[in-house]
Amino acid sequence: MNPLLTKLNIETVNAGACFGHDGWIEDSTAELLDSINPSTGETIAQVQLCSTATYDRVIDETAESFKTWRSVPAPKRGALIRDLGNALRENLEPLGELVSLEMGKIRAEGIGEVQEMIDICDFAVGLSRQLCGSTMHSERPGHRMYEQWHPLGPVGIISAFNFPVAVWSWNAALAAVCGDTMVWKPSPLTPLTAVATQHICNRVTADHGVSGLFSLTIGDNETVGGRILDDERLPLISFTGSSKVGRMVASRVAGRFGKTLLELGGNNAIIVEPDANLDLAIRGIVFGAVGTAGQRCTSTRRLLVHESCIDEVIERLKKAYAQVSIGDPLASSTLMGPLITPESVEKMTGVIEQAISEGGSLVCGGDTIEGQGNFVQPTIIRMPVQTDQVIEETFAPILYVIPYQNIGHAIQIQNSVPQGLSSSIFTTNLLTAERFLSATGSDCGIANVNIGTSGAEIGGAFGGEKETGGGRESGSDSWKVYMRRQTNTINWSEDLPLAQGIQFG
Ligand code: NAD
Repeated sequence: MNPLLTKLNIETVNAGACFGHDGWIEDSTAELLDSINPSTGETIAQVQLCSTATYDRVIDETAESFKTWRSVPAPKRGALIRDLGNALRENLEPLGELVSLEMGKIRAEGIGEVQEMIDICDFAVGLSRQLCGSTMHSERPGHRMYEQWHPLGPVGIISAFNFPVAVWSWNAALAAVCGDTMVWKPSPLTPLTAVATQHICNRVTADHGVSGLFSLTIGDNETVGGRILDDERLPLISFTGSSKVGRMVASRVAGRFGKTLLELGGNNAIIVEPDANLDLAIRGIVFGAVGTAGQRCTSTRRLLVHESCIDEVIERLKKAYAQVSIGDPLASSTLMGPLITPESVEKMTGVIEQAISEGGSLVCGGDTIEGQGNFVQPTIIRMPVQTDQVIEETFAPILYVIPYQNIGHAIQIQNSVPQGLSSSIFTTNLLTAERFLSATGSDCGIANVNIGTSGAEIGGAFGGEKETGGGRESGSDSWKVYMRRQTNTINWSEDLPLAQGIQFG
């Protein structure tokens, strides 16, 4: 047993990886899935895969629990989420370290991920007293009109490997205070952090005498993933993952008139103007491109630099990249851990070759690191223009640097990709900054000035346009997707006037 699991008070991880009404479901015939440490290739633990029979049982129970949970007053639902946030606070370090161990992000980022879970719980507690609808003035005398928000139903949450627990929490904390129950299918690349999170949830829900609120079904893409997509019992599917899979998810769920919340790929750019504070810019670029080994949806993949300062920016980046220590993500000196799988390493190598064949020149990096684990060098490639390879999202630490002549040209390059997640500009000129943020500026869901593309706070709505899927989760009014809106008109007069002045009979 890994010591982190002991610290998390987890006695068995493979006694049953599905959680239903009565707790972990024992299945002696279940197949087992290895949780692999990407730094060593070794198995950390094994978890049980969910069979179709177990899946059906879990969803039945999740649907049944919704009938009770929807009637619990929202502030009381918030009280449970407050306790979940506190339980996460108590487990901040071991859960964060487990995220680093299984996913490969460095310890500070693993702990930061759990901190995000805590932050969204805090947000959701406040929200539980603020699920506000509007009132409207009726055109009919003696009538009152308003809208209210009701719980939607059991929600399916399918998450990506790179934020193995935070993505679940952005959905789960809001869905729970909105009165929904939910089932989670995590990435098969990060099942152990999901099991650990479920253990924490179980203790909190048991203290509240609640069951069937949070359920977990770990399984392959068709047995569990496909069933979730097609399941009429789940009115909303929140999907986080690649645009390729997201496109299929969108049409499949729409085919049964289900709703989707899509958080898909990004191809995020930073623009560097000649008047930028380069000290800030270099720090923002390095964190954005190298952090999480380039495996964030908001990672900086494209750097658009004014032609007058491109040589200086590249020289400074080269020096900064030489300082990046690569290795064990749990070691305090490490700044970059491994990629998630050997296939990701292979993909990165192929993409670098392709970018060079399209006219790119290698500034630094480009190699894999021999030995155990999926380690690569962070890589910078100078491109003469934005080529076919550059417009694709590669989930690896590759930064393409492209020159531009003026801000209009920079915005045009920035927007000429299929994705629309995050973007930023470094400038000290107010007019340029405002132009970038205007309706004719960045076309992304996130646009920043003098900070990088990654590292969003939970208070704002998170998501993007075009092939990023259009969904928004986390802060602002993202909660509305987890509820159904109802418009109510009440007649308190003695008459029955019709709308639009219609006379009938
Ligand atoms: P992925 O698309 O390979 O997998 C995402 C999830 O979908 C996993 O749980 C996977 O098992 C599941 N899945 C795959 N095929 C399926 C199928 N046929 N039916 C049902 N489920 C299926 O993505 P990934 O490699 O885990 O994550 C990286 C991608 O996710 C990147 O493109 C990244 O940009 C994106 N991402 C986006 C956001 C965002 O908020 N926009 C956040 C994190 C990651």
